[in-house]
This record gives sequence, C-alpha cells and structure tokens, in this order.
Amino acid sequence: MIYLDYQATTPLAPEARDAMLRWLDGPDGMGFGNPHSPHRYGRQAAAAVDLARERVAALFPPGGRVIFTGTATEALNMALLGNEPARAGKACAISAIEHSAVHETAARLAGGRHIIPVGENGLIDANAEWPEDTGVVSVMQVNNEIGTIQPITEIARRAREAGAFFVCDAVQAAGKLDIPMADAIAISAHKLHGPKGIGALWLREGVELAPLITGGGQEDGLRSGTLSPALIAGFGAAAKLAKERMIADREHIETLWAKGRQFFSDWTLNGSEEARWHGNLSIRRDGLDVARLMSDCRNVAFSAGSACASSSVEPSRVLRAIGLDAKLAKTTIRLGFGRYTTGEDLEEAAAAINAAALAQGA
Ligand code: PLP
Repeated sequence: MIYLDYQATTPLAPEARDAMLRWLDGPDGMGFGNPHSPHRYGRQAAAAVDLARERVAALFPPGGRVIFTGTATEALNMALLGNEPARAGKACAISAIEHSAVHETAARLAGGRHIIPVGENGLIDANAEWPEDTGVVSVMQVNNEIGTIQPITEIARRAREAGAFFVCDAVQAAGKLDIPMADAIAISAHKLHGPKGIGALWLREGVELAPLITGGGQEDGLRSGTLSPALIAGFGAAAKLAKERMIADREHIETLWAKGRQFFSDWTLNGSEEARWHGNLSIRRDGLDVARLMSDCRNVAFSAGSACASSSVEPSRVLRAIGLDAKLAKTTIRLGFGRYTTGEDLEEAAAAINAAALAQGA
C-alpha cells in the first residue's frame, strides 16, 4: 500500500514514538506520573513537558508562549472565541478557503463572519478590504486541500494596522515553513509526524484570552485538564526533528514534486503552482469519476479533494471558491507526499492512477 495522504495525517516518526514510550511506563516504571504532582514521578513528567514545550516553541516566531491543546481545532476555537474583540461583539473576517475549524467557529461569533474571496490561484489578495466592523481576521498559512501559501506577513500587518486580532491556522505549514508573526497561531502534532490528539496554540507576548475550558487552571489557566506527557513528548520530538530536517525534507519534496508534475503532466493543477506547498498535488481531469478511481486503485491511499469533504455529497467549498463548478470540483484528487515517500512510490501510484483514469476514458 502506498500512502499519499500527508495532508490528512502523516506517519509517526520513529523518534517521536520512542520519545512517547518513555512516558507510558518507562524503564524505571515511573513514566506514568502526573506532570502536575509535586513528587518525583510528577517532577520527571513535568520536566519532559517543559523540554517538549521548548521544542514546539522553536517552530513559532520568537517570544510568545505555547499552550498545549487536544487538537488544532481546539486551539482555533480558543483563539477565535476567546479573544477580546470577538467577545466585544466584533465581526471576524476569514478567507474563503479556511478549514472548517475556522469557517464554522467564526460563524458562531456574535459579531458574525465575513468571507474574503480568493482568486483562481487559491490566493487572497493581500490588499483585500474587509468590512469596518471587523475586529478579528483569520487566514491560514497553507491550505490543506490545494496547498496554496497565503501572503500572511502582509495580511498580519494590515490586521495589526486596523487594530484587529490576527489568527493564523499554520497546521499545514508547521515544521515545513517558517511561521510569520500573528496574535495567535494553531498547529497540530499529527501533521508533522507526531501523534494524534495533541495540538498547540501559540500566543504572542501580551495576548490574553478568555478560556473555553475551566477547572484546575493548567496551561496558564487557559486550558484546564491534566496534560499527557507521552503525547507532548512525542510532539516535542517530532517538532525537533522537523526543525532539524526542514531543509532536507524540503529538498526531498521538491524532487518528488518535479516527478509528480511529470507523471501527471496531462492533469490540471488546482491553484497556484509557485505560491504553494509542493507536497500537495491537487489535480483534476475532465470527466473523472473519482469514487470509481479510488475503488480501482485500492493500493494507493489518496484523497478526493479533501479528507473532510470526501464523504460529503457536497462539492468541496475550497474548490468552489477557486471558481470550479460543482461538476469540475468533483473531478479532483489530492496526492500528499513528504519525508517518507520515495520516488518509486510516486511512480507506482501514478502508473496505477493514470491507467485507471484512462480506462474510464477520462
Ligand atoms: N487546519 C487545517 C489546515 C487542517 O488541515 C486541519 C486538519 O485537517 C485542522 C486545521 C484541524 O487539525 P486537528 O486535526 O488537529 O484538529
């Protein structure tokens, strides 16, 4: 089986797995300690959490603080619902291609949600206007469905000048690209070869939020509940590895991208070719029946547009936003590759996919 669904989730790095095992039981049998306990079990676990926090913090801009969460979805909920302008009833402007974690959460705000359109290239105009009542702006760095990279530095600067709180969903960028400055940034361990069930919210120095979850006051009072040292240690190890391997991983991905473009040269690329994470090959082909293609290529794990949208009968909101009609949007597949993908994997998968598409007459 060939795994080409790196935007849905990534394989766990062996280094992350090793780091986690120590905090499940550990060679001395003391790995299960509660990091909030004052005795030795607790202090050891707390030290592992501190180390991992430093490693995860190194993925973000300098300064600020890292709050561990269960998922990036939770981190985005915290940032969007807990910030001061949102609580004061201001509206939130988001791009048309945000993940549902932002799209749906912004819709819950009392001040309402404005949608900033994107072009055919899947990019928002850095000078796009947003309505005057906007107090929060939320734009993702790298899109999960089509891989486009938004002009975050410019948008963050304009948000700051307008006095708006700026949230960035950096889930698909973390560990791959440097993350620009924002007021709040969300990431998720499982997208960078860490475990599932752990994410982080980074907050710029001086930013305060109202908590969503109250209780024992952990994580600076912002996210109560006992931390999981095993998940956090795995996240920390994955973050450290991603940082160390950022250039090597990127070079590997560029090689795969060049091959992928060649293997799929008669398919149409969705979104910009240049302002894009090259580990995301979102392509379409007229007349393609994607469900049939997926059933004919059972040895390749890939996605129809996006994992979240693929079980839905509705065409992808992101593909509609770049101007595809419902019929065309449904002819898209997404191939996601990365650190552990080989050129041979991609070649074999392409041969199977192209043969199945041709057999359909697409
Ligand atoms: N934002 C983006 C861009 C994503 O791709 C995802 C996951 O697919 C999320 C947010 C949600 O992340 P999590 O699975 O940690 O809730």
